[in-house]
Order: sequence, then C-alpha cells, then structure tokens
Amino acid sequence: MPREFKVLIAGGGMAGLILGQLLELAGIEYMIFEKAPRPTTLGSAMGFGPNIMPLFEQLGMLEDIAKISKLVDHTLVLDEDLNVVADIDGKAMRKKLGYGHYIFSRPDMFQLLLSRVPAHKVFFSKKILTVEEEIDKVTLKFSDNSQISGDICVGADGGYSAVRQSLYRSLKARGILPRKDMEDLTFGFYNLLGTTNPMDPAKYPALAAPDCKIELMQRTTTKHALHTFTVPGNRFCWNVTNHVQTDEGANCTVFRNSEWGNETAQSMCNEVRDFKAPFGGTMADYIDATPKEAISIVMLEEKLFKTWYGSRTVLVGDACHKMLPSAGQGAINAIQDAVVLANNLYDLPDRPTLKNISFCFNLYRSERYPMAKMAFQLSQQQSKLISGQSLTDRMKRKMAFSYIPQFVQNKAMEKPNAYRPQVNFLPMVPDRGTYKVLQRRLSKRYQEEMGVSKAV
Ligand SMILES: Cc1cc2nc3c(=O)[nH]c(=O)nc-3n(C[C@H](O)[C@H](O)[C@H](O)COP(=O)(O)OP(=O)(O)OC[C@H]3O[C@@H](n4cnc5c(N)ncnc54)[C@H](O)[C@@H]3O)c2cc1C
Repeated sequence: MPREFKVLIAGGGMAGLILGQLLELAGIEYMIFEKAPRPTTLGSAMGFGPNIMPLFEQLGMLEDIAKISKLVDHTLVLDEDLNVVADIDGKAMRKKLGYGHYIFSRPDMFQLLLSRVPAHKVFFSKKILTVEEEIDKVTLKFSDNSQISGDICVGADGGYSAVRQSLYRSLKARGILPRKDMEDLTFGFYNLLGTTNPMDPAKYPALAAPDCKIELMQRTTTKHALHTFTVPGNRFCWNVTNHVQTDEGANCTVFRNSEWGNETAQSMCNEVRDFKAPFGGTMADYIDATPKEAISIVMLEEKLFKTWYGSRTVLVGDACHKMLPSAGQGAINAIQDAVVLANNLYDLPDRPTLKNISFCFNLYRSERYPMAKMAFQLSQQQSKLISGQSLTDRMKRKMAFSYIPQFVQNKAMEKPNAYRPQVNFLPMVPDRGTYKVLQRRLSKRYQEEMGVSKAV
C-alpha cells in the first residue's frame, strides 16, 4: 500500500541506494540527492559476507552479485620480500556460516545498486549545504540555491555528512549534543587506491583463478601496507595504506577532512611506484594500468557517533559510524542500517507526526547502535593487525600470525555473523549454515496486511 509521507535521502552511496531500493518496495515516496555529477568510478575492493548476503538473497540479487565478484578461498600475508607470513583460510568457515565472502570493486557494486533504483528518483549534482527543521516538515538546501521539503531527511552522505553537521549544530545550540559528538573523527591511516583495467593473465596467473586471490604485504622499511585483490574481468583492485602516527596526523592538514577524491593522489603514486608489489612487478604496473581519474586518495578516519537522530532527521552509514576498512564492515553496516531503518519506516503510522517519527528512529537506533559498536571495535582491531606500524602493532601481528591457531582467529570473526537483518515486510529467506543466527521479527503491518503471524 502506498504511504502518505515523503523521505528525502541525502547521498547516493551504498546506504542511500539500498535504502532507495527498499523504500521503493515498501511503497514509500522518496528522492535521492547525490552531490557527484555522475555515477562514480572511484574505489577499490569491498566485500560482503554472511551478515549481509541473506538480504541480497531476499532481494533476488545473488546472481548479479556473483557476476561482479569472486569468492575468497585464501588470503596470503607477505613480508616485503614476498615470503608468505600467513595463509588465512577463507573457505573453512563457509559451510558453518552458510555464505562465502564476496569481493568486488566498489564501482561495479555502485552500478548494480544504482540499476535497482528508478533513474528518475536519483538526482545527481545536488550538493546539500544545510537541513532546516520545522514542526511539520524538513527542508534540504542545495548549493545551486534550490531547496526541497519532505517529512523525513535521511543523512546517508558519508563520513563528512553535511546532514550530521546541520543536525549537530541545532542540537548543540539547544545544549543537548553530547560532548563526545563535538570531537573530530580520529585519523590513523591514509589510503591510495584504484581498480585497474584488464591486465594480462599470462603475466599474472592469479587473474585466471576462479577464486579471489588476496595478497597483503607489510613493508618494514617504510610504514606502508600494500593490498591487492583479483576481481572478475582480469582486473586487480589495489590499495596502499600508510599508517600515520598521532602527532603526524594532527599536523596533516593537507588531507585532514578531505573526501574520497583523486586530487592529491598523483604525488603519492610517485612515492610508491618503485615498491615491490604483491603478485610480482612493482606498484607502477598497477598504477599505470589504472585510469588516472579512477585513482583516489582518502583519509581513513574513524568515529562512532552517539547521536543518530533528532526531530525529522536520521543518520545512516558512515554519517553515524565511520569505521576503518580492514574488517570489511563499513559498507555492510551502512546497508544493515538501511534495512533496519526501512523496516521501522514501513511500520510508521500514516501520520508522520514528530512523536511517531521519533518513536521509529529510536527503535532503529536501539537495534543498530550495539551492532555498529561491535563492528567498529572489530574494524579497529583488524586494521591495526593488518596495517598498523607501531612497534606494538608489529609485535601483535607477529603473535597473531605465528602463534594463534587459525580456529581461534576464525572464532573472533564469527561473532558479527550472528546478526543478519532482513527486510521484515518481504518473505524472509531461511538461515543458511549451522551457525546460530539471531531471531528476526516480521513487521506488524506486514503481518496484518498479509494475514501472517509467525516470527521468523
Ligand atoms: C567515491 C567513493 C569511493 C569509495 N571507495 C571505497 C573503497 O574502495 N573501499 C572501501 O572500503 N570503502 C570505500 N568507500 C567508502 C564506502 O563506500 C563507505 O565506507 C561505505 O560504503 C558506507 O556507505 P555510505 O553510504 O554510508 O557512504 P558512502 O558510500 O561514502 O556514500 C556517501 C555518498 O554521499 C555523497 N555526499 C557526500 N556529501 C554530500 C552532500 N553534501 N550532498 C549530497 N551528497 C553528498 C557522496 O558523494 C557519496 O556518494 C568509498 C566511498 C566513496 C564515496
């Protein structure tokens, strides 16, 4: 049944596009506003695993995802001379968890998600400057001097969210913004990254393998970590991470609060060109095989914000929890937010009063915050383990890879997989694997409308 309220989604990234797709299915009116002039080609490897694949199965997207992805069987950790330090088995847990880990390039996933939302509902070149709240509506103001009003605003506009800044300004003025939320994001790494054009499998046999080959190299002579992944189409996704110590971070004003972009990328490319690369050759081979405009550099900052909503505005994804990337949980948690928010919006009574909206946002945050916190902490630990370059990080890495048995490491990775939200106003897919999955509830409205009453 179509609903009588309008949702304005700020940002057409991972969370914004999934939310659009779900609101389309829920019969809720929405519009997506993205500041980029066109669909992005920026980004490197990303991954989805058992804690989000049930959603894609439910949405009938498993085949589409398989086409743009490769499944991970093994991840090799190398030292600077290409000696194998650790071989992490990615297959071992597949049976237990019911799904494997899919690796794809972000631009490919972005295109897939974009194709699932009607084109006339995504507006490019719409940069939001501010959000203004009134008792009965919320208004977005854009850099082209236009504006639009709706009932609800969703800030899906990433780590430097303009929506969050507007919301926090008004909460601060009212004296109700927690002190922690006034602090900057913490900065620890920066990343140079891209996805190559097709390369020659005769020169790089790993490209021809059906599974995703991952090689992570730690350099001891510099503070860099090089990560390389094979994706369909004989391409590599690659990134070079540089760990910045806290005192350097504070002074690193060139990059601080910069966004995903390629302006400063070329100078870092020159710095790393001669590094020996995973899979052979040097980093120059990967850099030269990547279109210049598809190479970007990004600050990897992190922060879990406490405040996720206020009045008619709510935040999802990086806008409320920016995570370090090594555990691959940032995009997954952004999408889980979108699912849980859509579920609660589906049950919102037709009259979108402030009281009803606030009730709905509170349910959303209560379910998501503890889960995001767990993923945030896991991401912090994994990033230090994989890319950290302080003496303690290096010692912990040696310990973890040399002495801690694989099954103990797997155990730590299992925990986030118990939580697998699905759309609660569509038929749910059964749990796969033998791992115990947290129970989900069907929407109250859906049960009434469909005459079903069973929790799943
Ligand atoms: C271009 C790009 C490349 C990325 N590449 C990688 C990668 O290779 N590996 C990785 O792990 N993560 C990458 N990320 C981050 C990753 O997509 C997010 O961490 C994760 O998916 C969370 O999704 P999100 O929707 O919250 O944020 P994002 O996916 O970052 O989406 C936010 C969207 O909001 C838009 N936006 C921002 N400000 C405004 C504004 N004022 N008005 C309107 N729109 C606005 C942005 O352009 C972006 O499209 C990338 C993000 C971007 C934007």
